Parts: sequence; structure tokens; C-alpha cells
Amino acid sequence: MYKTIVIGTGPAGLTAAIYLARANLSPLVIEGLQPGGQLTTTTEVENFPGFPEGILGPDLMENMRKQAERFGAQFKNGWVESVDFSQRPFRVKVDGLGELEAESVIISTGASARYLGIPGEQENVGRGVSTCATCDGFFFRGKKIIVVGGGDSAMEEASFLTRFASSVTLVHRREELRASKIMQDRARENSKVTWALNRTPLAVTVGETGVKGLTVRNNETGLEELVEADGVFVAIGHTPNTGFLGGQITTDANGYIVVNPGTTETNIPGVFACGDVQDTRYRQAISAAGTGCMAAMDAEKYLEGTMVHDWSESLDK
Ligand code: NAP
Repeated sequence: MYKTIVIGTGPAGLTAAIYLARANLSPLVIEGLQPGGQLTTTTEVENFPGFPEGILGPDLMENMRKQAERFGAQFKNGWVESVDFSQRPFRVKVDGLGELEAESVIISTGASARYLGIPGEQENVGRGVSTCATCDGFFFRGKKIIVVGGGDSAMEEASFLTRFASSVTLVHRREELRASKIMQDRARENSKVTWALNRTPLAVTVGETGVKGLTVRNNETGLEELVEADGVFVAIGHTPNTGFLGGQITTDANGYIVVNPGTTETNIPGVFACGDVQDTRYRQAISAAGTGCMAAMDAEKYLEGTMVHDWSESLDK
């Protein structure tokens, strides 16, 4: 039986593993299908403190993994199929590893950015297609950018990207935006933002020197058009990876784990959540790492028997 099982190996899970290992709790860390998480799909990371020249996403994750291993974290590869939090010890069923038992569990399975699923998209991720304006906007200084989506994320990213881009075209499949009025207004007031509404994305179009733009269907005329740009930012939402929990952990309407504010406690004492799986707001590597540290310290306290679990105020909100 393990003292703690950490599920997920993005910055949150690996930071939790470093802290747990250094506290002599020998955590077992389960790596899923994408060890290292979302950062392994990016190139240069320039905003993670401590790397003045930047660091490649996969290198950063490899470093974190080595750091956790150095202090005794154990890694196993497998897909967590289900969990049973109704009894103690907790049970975690992993494809290929069977049923594992743990006194505490840290969930750091992240969220996956949603993609459009159109031709030219996946093969150009990191080469002109991105799902993270904060991470990649800087690479498009003085260039033309498209943001796809009609929600708050798209408005926020469009406004943010005007800091770098010569122009930002917002492409949305309907005439009406889903975004809140204040976010819409902010984007509309920005003279660098132009609008291509009622356009359904069909393909990321690539020329000899890279991404050329987005081929869309104009839903008014039914005709195909090319919206020209050097970069395409897809901002159509995220999906938290919480399906395997089988409804045992309280989530919000979008599936994100609800934690007791200011902590990583879930509704079940001994089960903690950190990183993007519980974060609808910041979604940064550094903020995920911060909550990973918090989860490890919360788990440590719980295992010592010194944690006061008080959900009385937060759960009903
Ligand atoms: P969202 O509200 O779900 O919006 C997703 C947008 O993408 C929608 O406009 C949707 O179009 C479009 N879309 C979805 N699938 C598509 C597809 N296959 N092809 C083309 N377009 C597609 O997601 P979000 O903007 O990421 O926001 C998620 C949550 O975070 C919201 O609650 C939001 O308020 C919150 N958030 C808040 C802030 C803030 O307050 N600062 C910032 C960001 C996010 P349709 O409208 O046609 O469905």
C-alpha cells in the first residue's frame, strides 16, 4: 500500500511528487498517455521563473521528473481506469497494473485544450497553431493572428494578442458571441481586432513558409474563404480530465474539481486536487506547480492526522 498516489505528471503532479518524496513519503506517480502533460506539446517556455534564456517544454518536464526521482518518487506508466474512494485505503485501478491501494490520492490529471479537429491543425501545433496566447503570443510580434472561438477565452486571448500582433481576426462559427458583455466590449473597443463572424473553420491552410491562414465557410453565402494570418490561436475551451472519477468527487458543471478555496482539498478527506484539473482561471505551468506544492503539503498534514477538514462553508456555495 502506498502513502500517496499521484495521478498525472504535468507541473502540478511532478511538483507534488518532489515535495512528497522530500518528505520521505515515497509517492507512486502514475503517468498516463501523455507523460509530462500539456507542456510536452509546446516548444520554448519563456515565462517559467528560473530560466532566463527560456527552456523547452519537454526539457522542463524531464527536469521535474528527474528531480522527483532523485528523492525517491516511483513512476509507473498506465491509464487510470477508475477509482474507489468509498472505502479506505483508497483504490486506484490502473490498466496493466491492476488495483493499487493508497492512504491518500492527489489528482493532477490536468485539462486538455479542445481542438477544432480540422485538417492542418494538429500537424502545425507549435508551428503556427496554438491553444495558449500567454505561452506563444510573444512569437507573433508584428504578425497577423487569428483567434477562433466566441467565448470569454477567445475575447481575452484576442485582446491580449493585440499587444504583439499587427492585427487579430476573431473567427467564430455564429453571429452571436457566447462571451460575457464586458469581455465582448473590451475586444470590440480594440481597434486592432477585426471580426469574421458566422464563419465555420474548415482547415488550417499552409503555404511554403508556414501557416497562411484559416479556410472557413462563410455561413451567409455558403462559400469558402481564406482568412489570412501567420498564426491561429484556438480558444474553444478546455476539457478537464475527470471522467475516470465516476462522479465520486464534486465537480462544477464543466467537470472541473471543486476544491475548498485556498486549499487543494476535495469533498473527500485524503483526496486532493491540483493543477488545471481544478483551475478554470489561471492555467499556467507555474500556477499548476504552486498548487502541486500545496497538495503535497495538504496530503502530508492529512497523513500525519493533523488536518482539519472543514467543508461546511464552501460546499454549499
Ligand atoms: P466556452 O465559454 O465554452 O466557449 C467556447 C467557444 O468556442 C464558444 O463560442 C463555441 O461556439 C466555440 N466552439 C466550441 N467548439 C467549437 C468548434 N468545434 N468549432 C468552432 N467553435 C467552437 O469556453 P471558454 O471561452 O474557454 O470559457 C470557459 C469558461 O471559463 C467560461 O465559463 C468562461 O466564462 C470562463 N472564462 C472566464 C474568463 C474571465 O472571466 N476572465 C476568461 C476565460 C474563460 P458556440 O458559442 O457556437 O458554442
